[in-house]
Amino acid sequence: MAFKLPDLPYAENALAPNISEETIEFHYGKHHKMHVDNLNNLIMSSEFEGKSLEEIIQFSSGNIFNHAAEMWNHSFYWRCMTPNSNMMPSGAFSDAIDRTFGSFDYLKEEFARASVSIFGSGWGWLVRANDGTLELMCTSGTGNPMVDKKIPLLTCDVWEHAYYLDYRNSRLAYVKAFLELVNWDYVQAQFVESA
Ligand code: MN
Repeated sequence: MAFKLPDLPYAENALAPNISEETIEFHYGKHHKMHVDNLNNLIMSSEFEGKSLEEIIQFSSGNIFNHAAEMWNHSFYWRCMTPNSNMMPSGAFSDAIDRTFGSFDYLKEEFARASVSIFGSGWGWLVRANDGTLELMCTSGTGNPMVDKKIPLLTCDVWEHAYYLDYRNSRLAYVKAFLELVNWDYVQAQFVESA
């Protein structure tokens, strides 16, 4: 069974003006799809054929790992955003944010700082560590916190293709616009389900 490009959880123009329809067309329709197609071609008749995406990420290397992780990361990134971002974390998730970062606003500031500081392409992450605490993480190029046994809660794609059409070289402007789109309901659900 080949992997399929998952549907976007909203229309391609739904995140504008923060992220334009043109960016989504290329980022989802070309880049994300390319990783799915390449992964399917690479695993055909290999030991990874028929394995779950998560298993492939944990046990593969080289190009199979790269395309598997990028396929997973993009699927997750789309779900981390919503055109109707207006909720605040609550309950145990809110408590964990306050314990680690002091406040929700400071978490967002630190997440932006970490994502902007990645040298070259990569992904900024909020993760849940083994002991249940929250951490910020950066992966350079292709990476995924699952490799380090950490649970991804939120990710921001900071490869240039994620923002260059809309923000040119200003990664900070893009990350700030991204933070206005975060689906905290979804992020919180990742935290609650991994408890
Ligand atoms: Mn991307």
